[in-house]
Amino acid sequence: MKIKEVSDNKFFWKHLKFYKSFLYHNIYFKPSKNIQNEDFLEILKSLNIKKRKERIKFIYETACFKIDKIAFSKNICSFKENKCFIQRKLDNNKCNGCCRKCLYQSNKGCTTANLACKLFNCSAVIDNFPEMQAINLNILKLLSFKNQIIVKSDFFATKEDVLKDLYSLSLIYSALRILKRQVQRIIILKLNKNLFK
Ligand code: SF4
Ligand code: SF4
Repeated sequence: MKIKEVSDNKFFWKHLKFYKSFLYHNIYFKPSKNIQNEDFLEILKSLNIKKRKERIKFIYETACFKIDKIAFSKNICSFKENKCFIQRKLDNNKCNGCCRKCLYQSNKGCTTANLACKLFNCSAVIDNFPEMQAINLNILKLLSFKNQIIVKSDFFATKEDVLKDLYSLSLIYSALRILKRQVQRIIILKLNKNLFK
């Protein structure tokens, strides 16, 4: 395997679409000693994962970890008694923030790791924490165009289901899977509501 030494520069970003392609399948990326930037080191680590599914999983988990780190350390939605600061401000009867109509919520929060949900925030949160936006997460640039769409739109799903959508090579197939799950979710929620009337 050949080794390409990389320093944190514009040339690298300009050529990223080639580095992540099959053209660099046999090339190992080595950071130059001056690189300390954690984001950049993670990107090189991703590029050195040559199996497609493993790389996608690493990117997904790293992005989730980065968002959780900001969300928990800065308490971005400021939950108190299951109500986020917007729900407290509006003084409505709603709770659990943006997760109200999902099958995977619990009293302790989300029971899975959904990247689209983690990237989705109301305007108040986006204004205060711009680093929570997909556009500011450099590691997502390693995904294909199809997968960049999926990670931003595959809400209300388990991590395992989202990963299957990302592993698929067809946007249409993934979109149909997402649509099917959304229909199932609405039916289950409606049935549950009728049961507890
Ligand atoms: S993103 Fe906004 S609306 Fe959603 S839970 Fe957080 S504070 Fe509430
Ligand atoms: S999957 Fe999304 S909507 Fe459902 S509980 Fe988790 S964060 Fe909330």
